[in-house]
Amino acid sequence: MINPAKRTEKIELSQIRKMFEVTNPDAINLGIGEPDFNVPENIKNAMIESINENDTHYTPNKGYIELREEIVKKFKNDNGIKTNAENIIVTVGASEGLYLCAQAFIEKGDEVILPNPSFLSYGACIELADGQTIPVECKMENEFKLKASDVEEKITKNTKAIILNSPSNPTGAVMEKEDIKAIADLSMDNNFIIISDEIYEKIIYGKKHYSPAKWSENVVTLNGFSKTYAMTGLRIGYLTANEDLCEELLKIHQYNIACATTTSQKGALEALRGPQDEVNKMVAEFKRRRDLIVNRLNGMGYETVNAEGAFYVFPKIEDENFVQKAAKAGVITVPGAAFGSNGKGHVRMSYANSYENIAKAMDILEEKIVNG
Ligand code: PMP
Repeated sequence: MINPAKRTEKIELSQIRKMFEVTNPDAINLGIGEPDFNVPENIKNAMIESINENDTHYTPNKGYIELREEIVKKFKNDNGIKTNAENIIVTVGASEGLYLCAQAFIEKGDEVILPNPSFLSYGACIELADGQTIPVECKMENEFKLKASDVEEKITKNTKAIILNSPSNPTGAVMEKEDIKAIADLSMDNNFIIISDEIYEKIIYGKKHYSPAKWSENVVTLNGFSKTYAMTGLRIGYLTANEDLCEELLKIHQYNIACATTTSQKGALEALRGPQDEVNKMVAEFKRRRDLIVNRLNGMGYETVNAEGAFYVFPKIEDENFVQKAAKAGVITVPGAAFGSNGKGHVRMSYANSYENIAKAMDILEEKIVNG
């Protein structure tokens, strides 16, 4: 037996993946974290064409220049972020961007403020970098929206970074503009980095998304194509930050990944340049499902916030055996506690499943658990 390094020994494999392996294959899966839609045709065709043209060699480390220039435009138009192609890195999903941030900026003694609950990878990446996570509660009374005043209380001289994720996985919460701006100001006044994971930016219902990089120099903005264009398996994302931060991030990316996949980069280019109708259709369908699931859960007495983004709801369900009972009855969900201590007493349900399946899943919960 070879002893693992201390850094891997102290973290665990994802419990969510493990759970999917053991439950019955006929169950309706409300545990998933990816769109149930397919990649739009124009994007598929661009990728097929690029292979036929033998576009299969290394690209510049930061990614194809045409793609980076398109990303610069996207940041300007959608987010009000001024950047340039030299300060963009095309990554292997937003996941790589997150890992780069942790490796480039976090070390022993550094504190990283982390919303609780939040996406599992955040804590793991911080721990792998020997940083210390400082949880800040996202309270249900605030519809799980992270508040700048709560963040301010957690700042110490050791604060190196905060991770923001709006819209949020697992709660679907969309932060308010004034909180994002106030946290941006705090990052300048206290000299820490904001790692802003904006992967669900476009999956938002009647609310505007704001990027902290509009107001602070100390931001790494992470984004990607997985959710907006249903390109999860193509593993393609991007980041921007100021020149100094980008240089450090590039060191990790260069020696680890070299460059993101050519085919996916060509798909990403078409995704940004091509029509956005498919995205709009997908978001409209997600909203229809959100309305259904929130309505049904509240109707069953499970208090549920009318989440304004992403494709998750986070009902209050205090029965500790709910997830097991639901799985047995035929509905897969994820215990809220998997996302941090403040997720206890909640369950994450993804509505990245068909309207019909969601309706069926709600019928099952009502019959077998609420009235069972
Ligand atoms: N951030 C959040 C909040 C996510 O939910 C996910 C995917 N589940 C990711 C990042 C990873 O995205 P990617 O596929 O771009 O690596």
